Amino acid sequence: MSKTKIAVLTSGGDSAGMNAVVRSIVKFGIIKGCETYVVREGYEGLVKGNSRPPPHRGNGLAGLNGPLPAKFQDNDFVHNLRFGDGGLLREGEGDSVDDTNGKSLKGRHIIRVGWDDVRGWFAEGGTLIGTARSKAFRTPEGRLAAAQNLIKEGINALAICGGDGSLTGADVFRAEWPQLVARLHTEGKITEDEAKANAHLRIVGLVGSIDNDMSMTDLTIGAPTALHRICEAIDNINSTAFSHSRAFVLEVMGRHCGWLALLAGVSAGADFIFIPERPPAANPWEDEMCEAIHRHRVMGKRKTIVIVAEGAHDADLNPIRAEYVKDVLTDRLGLDTRVTTLGHTQRGGRPCAFDRILPTLQGVEAVDALLEATPDTPSYMIGICENKITRVPLMEAVAMTASVADAISQKDFAKAMALRDPEFRESLDGFIATSSLDDTKTLPQNQRMRVAIIHMGAPAGGMNAATRAAARYCLRRGHKPLAIHNGFRGLLEDNLETLTWLRVDGWMARGGSELGTNRALPDIDLGAVAAQFQKHHFDAFFLIGGFEAFRALQIMEKAREHYPAFHIPMVHLPATISNNVPLTEFSLGSDTSLNALVDACDAIKQSASASRNRVFVVETQGGKCGYIATMGALAVGAVIVYTPEVGINLDMLRKDVEFLKDRYLLDTKGRSEGRLVLRNESSSTVYTTQFIKDMFQAEGGDLFDSRMASLGHTLQGGIPSPMDRARAVRLSLKCMAFLEKQHDVLRVVPEHKRRAQPASAAVITIQGNRVELTPVIEMVKHADMKNRRGKNTWWEGYKALAEALGGKTPLCEGY
Ligand code: ATP
Repeated sequence: MSKTKIAVLTSGGDSAGMNAVVRSIVKFGIIKGCETYVVREGYEGLVKGNSRPPPHRGNGLAGLNGPLPAKFQDNDFVHNLRFGDGGLLREGEGDSVDDTNGKSLKGRHIIRVGWDDVRGWFAEGGTLIGTARSKAFRTPEGRLAAAQNLIKEGINALAICGGDGSLTGADVFRAEWPQLVARLHTEGKITEDEAKANAHLRIVGLVGSIDNDMSMTDLTIGAPTALHRICEAIDNINSTAFSHSRAFVLEVMGRHCGWLALLAGVSAGADFIFIPERPPAANPWEDEMCEAIHRHRVMGKRKTIVIVAEGAHDADLNPIRAEYVKDVLTDRLGLDTRVTTLGHTQRGGRPCAFDRILPTLQGVEAVDALLEATPDTPSYMIGICENKITRVPLMEAVAMTASVADAISQKDFAKAMALRDPEFRESLDGFIATSSLDDTKTLPQNQRMRVAIIHMGAPAGGMNAATRAAARYCLRRGHKPLAIHNGFRGLLEDNLETLTWLRVDGWMARGGSELGTNRALPDIDLGAVAAQFQKHHFDAFFLIGGFEAFRALQIMEKAREHYPAFHIPMVHLPATISNNVPLTEFSLGSDTSLNALVDACDAIKQSASASRNRVFVVETQGGKCGYIATMGALAVGAVIVYTPEVGINLDMLRKDVEFLKDRYLLDTKGRSEGRLVLRNESSSTVYTTQFIKDMFQAEGGDLFDSRMASLGHTLQGGIPSPMDRARAVRLSLKCMAFLEKQHDVLRVVPEHKRRAQPASAAVITIQGNRVELTPVIEMVKHADMKNRRGKNTWWEGYKALAEALGGKTPLCEGY
């Protein structure tokens, strides 16, 4: 079979993470032995093709630091390092470049790219290969030209990253391909051999869209970053709204999809939102909004935030505009109200951690999907379902996306909601439960609980958001939320507070732990702890924290045989930056921490690159769990990562030094890059960060030098990420529902006879596409108690992937 030549293009509106898609497809394509190309300016570039020949490439390694060493002579990977002409893709290096040496992209849209052409693309927003909305591609003639250009360049696999429009275009192109090839042949534009060789075009779609408007995937590339931008804006607005006791109406993007407005509403703790899928129930809606906001004001709120999706409308499809909402708030409630339209600021900027990791993993899946495609398999769209990268038939995804818009236009809002993923629906429930006081949801007196809430271990982003959600849920249902300050020590000192609706109002955006947290376990004095449970009449216990909280729950469940006070429902919501709680794939705080790591590493990398040939060894926290180091390496493009799970030995270090030497040797003269190495703090007691840095320094000679940086507590992050906040709300409410259900079983038994089942002490866990409340006794089987981490981790294989994408594995082949 002929070599696979993969081209990747970005189309439609730009989104953060598109560059990471291109980087991943190019790098993984090269690893898999493909030739890789980019198409500039989306479909428009495909239609225009190349009107000039490629610049002379030589052997692609002309700028090498000296002659190519013998061991690399036949290395395909090495030849792909600098084979391309894509280094010209950055502004100022492309069309406008002096043309005399032929190194110009003028008239060229389909460009061969090598490994190093996409180096450092992570940190850049938008798309460096350009995007466009192409009218020509909508026409059969345009698509005929596009097909001809692909065939002439010998490209037989195409990856498209764009929104629903772009993927619809991809679907049309694929369906039409046989006719296009036949027509090109009939018209004499391609030879018979070319027609035969190109009977089948392999196509894969990746969804790059800030609206998160594509069906059959939980998230689209760029949506998480857009959410970051919106939440940053609201967090900033909050302080001025509070100072002046103002109302702000924010218009955010989303024509057919309210994901951004909804998630921003949840994460930023808004008062009211308008989304296309669920218009306000009341008619007129103005009454419903004013009532809700008036109630909040009466309670003492000084600020009001209303979020309006661009495509918001009422139940009769009359548009709801931010300016009109402002007028209503001003006229009816007399609020000093301002409108902020975030516009294109939502699109841009540096991609957040998730918009680096997701496109990287999806790019890898896209290459595999292209390589495995046959004329009998459908074209796939790469999606994500909870934590699993998926392939779904492109045609079905496009059709289902269109059916959401249809359902909305037919006012079938129940159908529109049903077509959204479960997380969307749960987020809406979460928003409603935490933003409005609704007396109709209050439970009868005998079903109400006194719910104790405690934080344990180190602070993690989202702890306060989870507490806020729990407290508000309790108040809505008539339960009493009792916050325990300062962990189990605080409980022994009667350091308790009944939370109120207003008290927790600003907690969504607060980092750290508002309740105070420490590592003391209940066995500091189990008897006294049990006595406090009795004294304060706890009916349910909610722990938010890391491995300590898990241990605490285990201790109390076991102690039930001696202490009746522990025969109440208890639940643990994992919150730790280390993400080391067994079984669950994510804990609160881990996303905030990855974002803090990305911010720090971007700055470090800039400094390392300024000095051209510097290797930075960056130490991360994480205890005996390498999650942050591994996922961080994927998110920042580190070339080597050391984790406690794998450890460090001398043989490994020798190979790593060799790899770095080879890599710097192969860099183009004068264009070496700074490179990052991530090392988890507990990877080895002997080969410390200082040791590795000194070793690189000594071994690097003239090729590279080395520095180190320890990120320490900065990884606990300041303001929690929107993802941690939204996840906190969703999981916290599930925990509350669990406590209610378990309490219902127990409350009918007289207090002195109550015997809680082991399953009533559980940990909420995310497992693939499921959220499970796993009994703590079951959790223990999955725990490596000595090393304080899970026995099996879903992310372990990503160390090898991160290093492969750093170039290590291909270069180390044959060692
Ligand atoms: P965004 O979500 O940012 O709007 P999008 O991919 O939906 O991104 P569109 O402008 O709808 O953006 O589509 C991008 C390009 O895809 C169009 O300019 C056009 O070239 C191509 N395209 C869209 N729909 C079709 C179609 N039905 N047939 C052929 N090409 C299409």
